[in-house]
Amino acid sequence: MKELWGRKVLKKEITGIEGIEEHSQKLPTMKVQNEKEIQCLRCGQIHNKREVQLVSGSFFCPACIQLGRVDTSQMFYHLPEPESIKRAVYFVWEGELTKGQQEVSDKLLTSVKKAESRMIWAVTGAGKTEMLFKMIHYCLESGYRIGVASPRVDVCLELFPRIQAVFPDEEMILLHGKMEEAYRYTKLLVCTTHQLLRFRQAFDVLIIDEVDAFPFVGNSLLRYGVQQAIKYHSSLVYLTATPTKELIRQTQQKKLHTSILPARYHRRELPVPKIKWCHKWQQKIKRGNSPRELIAKIRTLVSKNDVLIFCPTISMMEQLKVVVEKQFPKAPLASVHSKDPDRLEKVMGMRNKEYRILITSTILERGVTFDGVSVIVLGANHNVFTTSALVQIAGRVDRRKEYTAGEVWFLHDGCTKGMKEAIRQIKKMNSLGIERELIDEM
Ligand SMILES: [Zn+2]
Repeated sequence: MKELWGRKVLKKEITGIEGIEEHSQKLPTMKVQNEKEIQCLRCGQIHNKREVQLVSGSFFCPACIQLGRVDTSQMFYHLPEPESIKRAVYFVWEGELTKGQQEVSDKLLTSVKKAESRMIWAVTGAGKTEMLFKMIHYCLESGYRIGVASPRVDVCLELFPRIQAVFPDEEMILLHGKMEEAYRYTKLLVCTTHQLLRFRQAFDVLIIDEVDAFPFVGNSLLRYGVQQAIKYHSSLVYLTATPTKELIRQTQQKKLHTSILPARYHRRELPVPKIKWCHKWQQKIKRGNSPRELIAKIRTLVSKNDVLIFCPTISMMEQLKVVVEKQFPKAPLASVHSKDPDRLEKVMGMRNKEYRILITSTILERGVTFDGVSVIVLGANHNVFTTSALVQIAGRVDRRKEYTAGEVWFLHDGCTKGMKEAIRQIKKMNSLGIERELIDEM
C-alpha cells in the first residue's frame, strides 16, 4: 500500500495492488462550486458544468486530461504519508563549494529547518545543484520526503543521475510523461511539474528548478499541483537565474526569502552582451541575401570559438542556414529546433565539437552547456526574445573553468526594452559579485 502514500490517483493508475478498496482513503475527484460551475480537484481548474458534461451525466475535466481523464464517476485513492523517522543516509560528494555557494547552502538549510520557503536566484552557470546536496542530505536523515521538480523534462533527466550519484544507496525514482518504469514509493524523487498533480500532502520539501520556465510560468494548473503536493508544514524552494516579476515582487515585499548568488563558481564576470545594428536582417535573409554585419561577426567569432546563432523563428532558421552555409562552406554546420527529430543527436554533436556553427531556436536558451562557444542572437529585437530569454542565452557563454574569450552579441534593427533590461540585469549581477568579493577582476 506504500504506493498510495502521499498520492492522489485514479483506480486505473494503480492496478494490481491488493486490498486497495478496503484500506485506502477515497476522495472526490471534482467539487461542485455552484449551480453553474465545477472544480477539478486534481488540477484546480473551474469549468462551466454544461461544457464538461458527459453523455452518462458525469462531469469531467478537460484541463488535465493528458494525465488520464478525471470524471465524477471516479474517486481518488490516497493514503497519508507516514510519520518521519530519522535514519542514517550515505552521502558521497568530493566537490567543494565556493564561498558564495556555501552561503546559499547554509541559508537553505536554515530555511528548511524552519519549514520556510526560499528562492535561490543564482546566475546562469553558478552551480545550483551542488548547493542543494547538504540540505537534501539533512532532509533524508530527518526522514523527510523530498521532491525535485522542473517544468522541463530535459532538466529532470540531467538532475536525476547527478543527485543519485551523491546518494548512491538511496532509492530514487524519476517521473515524467514518457517513462515506462512503474511508480514506487521513494523518499527522494525527481519529476516534471505535471507529475505533481498526482501527489497530495506528500513533500516536506519541494524544490522547483527553472521555476520561470515554460510551461510552469503563469500556469495556474501547475501551481495548484504544487500547493496540493506539499504538506501543510513544509518548504518550497525555487531555483532560477531569471525570476519572474511576481517572484521579484514577493521578495521585495519580504513575502519570500531570497538568496542571490551573483557569481559563477569560476569567479569570472558574466559576459555582458554587446549590441550591433544589423540593417533589415529579416528582409535580407528572406531574399536569400546575407546581412553583412552578421557574416562579419560570425567570421571573427568562429576564429576563436564555436558559434551558436539564435534565430527567432523556425522558418527563418532554414533560410538563414542556406545563407550561412554559402559563406562558410568549410565550417561544419547544423540547425536545430524543438520539433527536430534529431534534436538530441545534434546537441550531442555540438558538444562533441562535430559542428563549428549551430543555428538554433530558443530551445537551447537554457539547460545546455557547450565548451568554448560564442553566441549571436540574430534579431534580438524580435518579441520571442524576452528579457529572461536573453539573459539565459547570454548565460550559455563561458560556463566552463577554462577561459576561451567567448562573446555574446545581440544583432538587431531597433533596440528593445527587453534587450536593455537583459544587459542591465547582467551588469547588476556582475557588480554585486564584485562587491561581495565573489568575482576576481580580470
Ligand atoms: Zn483537472
